[in-house]
Amino acid sequence: NTNEMELIFDSSPVNEGLARVTVAAFCTQLNPTLEEVADLKTAVSEAVTNCIIHAYEGKICKIRMTCRLAEKALWVDVEDQGVGISDIRQAMEPLFTTKPEKDRSGMGFTFMEAFMDEVKVESQVGKGTIVHMKK
Ligand code: ATP
Ligand code: MG
Repeated sequence: NTNEMELIFDSSPVNEGLARVTVAAFCTQLNPTLEEVADLKTAVSEAVTNCIIHAYEGKICKIRMTCRLAEKALWVDVEDQGVGISDIRQAMEPLFTTKPEKDRSGMGFTFMEAFMDEVKVESQVGKGTIVHMKK
């Protein structure tokens, strides 16, 4: 039993809510607990915010979110074609941020890892980034 959906949207902060609500709606077929839904929404929100702030640095470009249900697990990919990440391991460390002046706390990836069962990041500088998450 598999099911897949894809959403492509502008990297505007108003669409963070769209991404959160969409992943929540999609996962209802798994009969998740309220806590699981909240975790998913938080993780997606962090990933989408990173595309808006870091990948595109405020420019309006496209973000793609893919949700896939397979073997009772939900996979969510959040993809951008922005600046990319040169050192993924460092980027994922708690408190690491390249934008401390913008009040970022460097906790986005840490939250994604805490709220999801698996988080993998693929990135190429100048090409973009994909965050794969499993719940
Ligand atoms: P916070 O999420 O707490 O507001 P943050 O966004 O800086 O702060 P993380 O979400 O953990 O912290 O990301 C760490 C760093 O990884 C960012 O500062 C940025 O340099 C880089 N990064 C994360 N996502 C992307 C992305 N999609 N494209 C380019 N760089 C990214
Ligand atoms: Mg972040």
